[in-house]
Amino acid sequence: MTLPSLHSAAAAIIPAAGYGTRMHLDYPKQYHLLAGAPILVHTVRAFIRNRHIRSIIVAVPADMQESTHELFKKYGIDGGTVTITAGGARRQDSVFSCLSLLDQSVDIVLVHDGARPLVSDALISRCYEGAALHGAVIAAIPVKDTLKLCPSGSVIAGTVDRTNLWQAQTPQAARVSHLRQAYDHAGGLDVTDEASLLEMAGIPVRVVEGSETNIKITRPEDLVVAEKIMQAGSCRESRIGHGFDAHRLVADRKLVLGGITIPHDRGLEGHSDADVLTHALCDALLGALGEGDIGRHFPDSDPRYRGIFSITLLEHVAGLMEEKGFSLANADITLICQAPKIAPFAGEMRSILARACRTEPARINIKATTTEKMGFEGRMEGISCHAVVLLESRLEEEGTP
Ligand code: MG
Repeated sequence: MTLPSLHSAAAAIIPAAGYGTRMHLDYPKQYHLLAGAPILVHTVRAFIRNRHIRSIIVAVPADMQESTHELFKKYGIDGGTVTITAGGARRQDSVFSCLSLLDQSVDIVLVHDGARPLVSDALISRCYEGAALHGAVIAAIPVKDTLKLCPSGSVIAGTVDRTNLWQAQTPQAARVSHLRQAYDHAGGLDVTDEASLLEMAGIPVRVVEGSETNIKITRPEDLVVAEKIMQAGSCRESRIGHGFDAHRLVADRKLVLGGITIPHDRGLEGHSDADVLTHALCDALLGALGEGDIGRHFPDSDPRYRGIFSITLLEHVAGLMEEKGFSLANADITLICQAPKIAPFAGEMRSILARACRTEPARINIKATTTEKMGFEGRMEGISCHAVVLLESRLEEEGTP
């Protein structure tokens, strides 16, 4: 497997501070349930799973920050990747305040409507790649219906030539510097999307092919359509995988488990950092993909892997999983270890592993057991680990699995 090239750091901004009165709800529409989870949760998950997105900022109504935080926690959305902030009166105000929260290292930003939960992973990637290459792009689809001009609301005054007309969607992606420049230039003018600001500032914006299924939920009937699209996508292929690994405990080595260095008088011996837990998870993922094992992909005869941080290997395996069209539904990991105690570190391990696998920590379970001093683990000669994973084929374009 080739090592990935360094690329631009990207963040997503999700404005979700509107109240969406057309839905006739007594709470904002982005909190409405769709296929078992709030619309906004589906939207945020789509960005957590994309390999280009490092951080996500969600702008919600000021009085709903705390409840959104609780809601995200309930659905296992990691606080480390996702920041919740108070949105402004207009969409553009929300996006502007999110821009000020971006980490300095972020150079590409994707703005996406909180009410477009069906955005595909491929579309997010196309927008990211388009912005990295050209500076600014938006997802859009050609207008298919005949357009009528009807200023009175009853009598048609003319037919609009639909050639060259596109319907703007989101994500709308741009270099952060371009978007900041566009905000400065617009000086508070009202707009309905970020592309308008960029256009006014004279920054060329290209279109990338959007998707007919990337609908914005604004009316109750949109929910019915969205449910149907999700059902079509739920006929997915599942794969199961199992991984096992064991390493010897020796003096003068760090003990690295699940990406964390744990204080202990001995560490695990191996060519890499000997992170037995991460190796078992890698093997489970490779097993589910029918891709052999970790030794085949990262041979210990290869000097590139000497002392390597195993989370890097897991990131490569997660990349392979994504190339093959799968995402991690859940992982259950059992570490067999007489000492030290693992429980205090399990939460942080889950966050690290989830980030590498582009999923939420709630989908990764870590447990540890002793063997009552029996066997090599019990005699503290080594530590072993089992991992079981379930993969699901990803929802890609046009609702097809
Ligand atoms: Mg190993």
